[in-house]
Amino acid sequence: MGWGLPLTFISPPNRREGASEETPGDTTDATGANGASSANGASSANGASSANGASSANGASSANGTGEVRVRFWGVRGSVPAPGPSTVRHGGNTSCVSVEAPGCDLLVFDAGTGIRELGAALARTGRLPLTAHLLLSHTHWDHIQGFPFFAPAFMPGNRLVIHGAHGGEQDLAEALEGQMLHRYFPVRLTDLGAEILFRDLPMGGHTIGGARVTVAPARHPGGSVAYRVDVGGRAIVYATDTEPEGVFPDLTLDPNVLALARGADVLIHDSQYTDEGFQSKVGWGHSPVSYAVRLAIAAGVGRLCLFHHDPSHDDDALDAMVARARSLAAGHRLARSLKIEAASEGVDVVLPVAPVAPSAPDADAAAAHGSGGGDGSTATRKRRSDLQAPVVLNGSAVGATIADTDTGRGAKESEPLVEVPERLRLLRKAHLFRQLRDDELQELAEACAVVTFEEGEVLLQQGEPGEHVFTIVQGVVDTTVRQYEAGLVTSVHIATLGVGDALGHLALVDGRPRSATAVAQTHVVCLRLGRRVFVDTARRHWSVAQGLLSVFADRIRGADERLGDLARDQLTGVYSAGGVLDHYERETARSGRVARRMGGAPPPLSVLWADIQQLRAINDAHGVRTGDEVLRAAARVLREAVRTVDVVGRVSGDEFAVLLPDTDEAGAEVVAARVRTMQQENALAPGPFPMRAGVVTCDALRPVQFAELLVAAGYAAWAGQPLAPDTAATPSAPVAAVVA
Ligand SMILES: [Zn+2]
Ligand SMILES: [Zn+2]
Repeated sequence: MGWGLPLTFISPPNRREGASEETPGDTTDATGANGASSANGASSANGASSANGASSANGASSANGTGEVRVRFWGVRGSVPAPGPSTVRHGGNTSCVSVEAPGCDLLVFDAGTGIRELGAALARTGRLPLTAHLLLSHTHWDHIQGFPFFAPAFMPGNRLVIHGAHGGEQDLAEALEGQMLHRYFPVRLTDLGAEILFRDLPMGGHTIGGARVTVAPARHPGGSVAYRVDVGGRAIVYATDTEPEGVFPDLTLDPNVLALARGADVLIHDSQYTDEGFQSKVGWGHSPVSYAVRLAIAAGVGRLCLFHHDPSHDDDALDAMVARARSLAAGHRLARSLKIEAASEGVDVVLPVAPVAPSAPDADAAAAHGSGGGDGSTATRKRRSDLQAPVVLNGSAVGATIADTDTGRGAKESEPLVEVPERLRLLRKAHLFRQLRDDELQELAEACAVVTFEEGEVLLQQGEPGEHVFTIVQGVVDTTVRQYEAGLVTSVHIATLGVGDALGHLALVDGRPRSATAVAQTHVVCLRLGRRVFVDTARRHWSVAQGLLSVFADRIRGADERLGDLARDQLTGVYSAGGVLDHYERETARSGRVARRMGGAPPPLSVLWADIQQLRAINDAHGVRTGDEVLRAAARVLREAVRTVDVVGRVSGDEFAVLLPDTDEAGAEVVAARVRTMQQENALAPGPFPMRAGVVTCDALRPVQFAELLVAAGYAAWAGQPLAPDTAATPSAPVAAVVA
């Protein structure tokens, strides 16, 4: 959930003398209040200077009123941090910019080293716990390297949604996890205390944390994206790591970035190079300063912040670039009101909330490149802050504020009251209540509330206590379950719910925490019922209870099917690695139980391991289809060679394992001999190709990890191998080789 009003803005530890000028109605807050200590960083250690520490703590300073959109630079460098006395004015940290606005979650662009100080400031000013949205332009190191040092990520209770537009959620998670591997960093991503969610952002428009965010592609090696945020009637564009097409000086204005920046109040644009420097760095993915100025003029922006400063440019060099940019703009009749400055750490751009939104980005912009997704429109869409005011919902006038203040996660802090007749109409859409009579529905209509969620907002959070059941009357909701696998946090999609569907009822019935997370995929309107009313209704009306049961039955069937799929290897039809492991654990538990009950030794359990030798060479020489056929043939041989109680599984690309319950060493050797004979008789078509096998017998009283057992069986196969590896290594002259 977001934090309520009034907003307490983050206070940086040391604001330096800003380079920018004040303009009426549009101010740059660069007071340099504690500039005296900025050079030695003393103030950042305690954050106690009267100019910022005090005011930010209670939110009482005039700058911290509720009517402002604040853009703050925490890191302004590109490529690599460049600290030192020669960069102290503009700053040495890599890319990180925050945007704050009333009624909106904290938005953070990129996680360069500047994000460390942002985290410290949030903690210092009592802003935790919080929900923050991190919007990554891309995952080059200078845009993520500060993340492991972002203190709020370590604190339980904080919620961090990481958005990116390349390669999907898995890719984002991998990029952040990769730099936190043990060899680089002591703490793993999965060990961070905060709840961290990854979201893949398609190009186009989205509502994120109460702000309208538009995403467009930027030209950069490996890909990058630019963002526009429309919030509080203001538009801020973050376009870093982007290079224009063309040959200097005839560079083409990037139509995507141009459309995104159209009419924006603030354009933060890549200007890593001087015009001279650019010409030897073509293809490196960055812009020369004159290009940034041309784009800002063409887009008609109010303020251009030169950004992603080259680490080799000291403060004086940056000042010279700003002077050059201003002189370029001065010669242009359309650029008279354009303000230009170099983005500097600790210097804010503060914009009073405007009553009317600036012109929206060209809807074609996001569509132009064909990436789809989003709706691209911004101007007429309701912003979250608008929802605080009376709105018209489905044709009914609504106003006032509902008395029920327990709004549930993500819902508005004050919600419009929808009249009972309208609630009654909406209730009729609910599958669960379909069979209730009007007088029965009337009772529910009086007891329920209408709540709205914007796209990307969380309705229910996995693990949290459940107090309400929701029925969707407008929009689409995705439910996911969070999973930890191979060091990665991923979310597994469970279901997409639409109008009439209920969610949250599981936790209401068993009183346990929410089993899944539900996120609005569009603007969503729900009817919300409290636990007591809902349970009472279900008790009194069989049709409601029956509806619940059929919802549960559907879910169980779906889960069973999913489990069945997971346990089987799709290619060969034998069990998957997970399926075999599952059986192994059950078998060892059963053996242990039998031994304890009957006394004496537990029933023996053996494992046969087999692999297709040189599968990769077979694939290379004969094609993957042949490799697949060989695998299927091997699975057939193994299945036919064993009893029905034995469990055959494919445990990796070229390896099989067969569990042989109640089979001792001698018995296992018999099975292996049978496999050998069968393979000689029915060679692995279209080969014959060699399969190697080995057996081990385990001690059910002291079961080892299944993986260890497989390694031991693999060794047995190697040790007993009668053929020289070289003989078997030539797939074009294969030799049958089953070893036991
Ligand atoms: Zn960069
Ligand atoms: Zn980059």
